[in-house]
Amino acid sequence: MIEHLTIVHILPGLLGSYGDVGNVLVLRHRAESRGIKVTIVNVHPGERVPASADLYVIGGGQGDEETCAAELLRRDTGLANAFQRGAPILAVCAGLQLLGEWFTDSGGNKVAGVGLLDLVTTRLRVRAVGDVLAEVTAIPDMPTLIGFENHLGATVLGPTSEPLAQVRHGVGNGAGEPVEGVAQGSVVGTYLHGPVLALNPALADHLLASVVGHLLPMDDERAEKFRSSRISRAQG
Ligand code: GLN
Repeated sequence: MIEHLTIVHILPGLLGSYGDVGNVLVLRHRAESRGIKVTIVNVHPGERVPASADLYVIGGGQGDEETCAAELLRRDTGLANAFQRGAPILAVCAGLQLLGEWFTDSGGNKVAGVGLLDLVTTRLRVRAVGDVLAEVTAIPDMPTLIGFENHLGATVLGPTSEPLAQVRHGVGNGAGEPVEGVAQGSVVGTYLHGPVLALNPALADHLLASVVGHLLPMDDERAEKFRSSRISRAQG
């Protein structure tokens, strides 16, 4: 059993829409509750992404921040090395988009992504905003995914990536098929804020378990209450 975990939070000052930092805090809380010590490494502009950490988190951000983050990360091999090693990476919204081949900025220009994921992102005609409910198809035994989307990007997946989930309510990737997010290698990508791991503790545990192996069960009544109230609201 691994006793210590290093989580890298990539560019939190640029990519942290709607409290996405909460994903890192949830991972820490759920690891520490199982007796696993956690170190969080925040990577800021000008710093290198460590290639040998256990888990990586990258959040959402608006247009200029997303373009700036893509430029910084294209020049850095740390994340690509971690991806090749199979280290789990959670990517949310702009984080998902910029790990792909390219995305479209607010001026309609194509911006090169980091190129880890087989996907491209064009633009929706109308911003997708609201609650999303989706059934996870890429990870077995995962309960319904719930979260909040707010994006203009429409993400088209290529043949070597697959959707994370099938949308039941909301827009998701917004490129024709009613699907949400992406799974490719060790990356779990989603459009969902919330933060997504606070609303979906099973997904947090999936990411942790892919590093530490078997996790002790955890009774987190508050998280479950929060989750069910948001599910009822989305269904209502
Ligand atoms: N700028 C991107 C979009 O609107 C990402 C938004 C976000 O990360 N919330 O699609």
